[in-house]
Order: sequence, then C-alpha cells, then structure tokens
Amino acid sequence: MNLITHVLIGVFIQILCFMFFTFPFNFLLTVIIAFLSHFIVDAFSKITYHTPEPHWDDKFWVFWNISVRVVGYIAIIPFFFYYLGIIFANLPDIWDWTIVRRIQRRRNTNGKIDYHHNNFFHRFVDKIREKTLFWLPTWIYVKKAVLVEIMIDIVLFIGLIFLMV
Ligand SMILES: [Zn+2]
Repeated sequence: MNLITHVLIGVFIQILCFMFFTFPFNFLLTVIIAFLSHFIVDAFSKITYHTPEPHWDDKFWVFWNISVRVVGYIAIIPFFFYYLGIIFANLPDIWDWTIVRRIQRRRNTNGKIDYHHNNFFHRFVDKIREKTLFWLPTWIYVKKAVLVEIMIDIVLFIGLIFLMV
C-alpha cells in the first residue's frame, strides 16, 4: 500500500507497544511488529488501486500517487515522535523501491525496470497474498478501489486520535 497507510500503521503500533510494554520490550516489539506489519498491509494492496507499473499518461494515476505520497510525508511531521514505528513499517519499501530499484536501474543497460518482477521483501508479500488472500478480488487496476485505502486511512486516523487523547 501507500506511504500514508504504512506511516499510520507504524504510529499505531508504536503507541500500543509503548502503552503495554516497558523498556526494552516497547522498543523491541515496535521494531518487530512494525516491520512485519508491512507484509500484511501490502498483501491487502490487491483490494486497492495499486498498479505495479507507473502510468504517467493517466491523470488520475498521477494525481492519486502524488496525493498519497504528499499526504504521507505531511503525516510524518505531527507523528515524528513515533519515528521508530514509521521507519520500520516502511523499511521494506525503502529497501526494495528506493535502494534496490535504483541499483537495478543503474545496472540495466537499457535503463528499463521490470515492474512486474518484485524485489526482495515484496516477493514475500506476493507469497503471503497468494497463499492467504487468494479469495479476495484483485482491484489493482480499478480506480474506484482508491476508496478502500482512503477508508482504511480514515479508520486508522480516527483510531489514532482516540489513542492519543
Ligand atoms: Zn511495500
């Protein structure tokens, strides 16, 4: 899923871990659970609008992808205190999409990327999805499915407000 969803989940996990556990387990469990959350959250991305390849010629795709990215970065500011949860909930994306893909692009002589071939961590995501969520519909090319991720984010955001007040 998108940055904003992983950020909200990371914050959620850190708040709960620090609420229920003492040092050093609060830190340790935040790191472990936030990292593992990425695999579960991403496995569900099949019911959201999430094209594997970029569609720069499609205004809706551009608008959606820029919006969720910007909202994700903005969300980090008020939740910066929960940086541990945020970093580890996003670590597989930072590694696979930022570091590995950049290296691949440099290595490929034609500069092209095979968007349907997932990288290291996301191969596990694919396996989890295939084995456990095969019964869910695949809406990765259905634009209306942005509503699914928007709903998830709204629920997470409301949950965070309740946890923080
Ligand atoms: Zn991911």
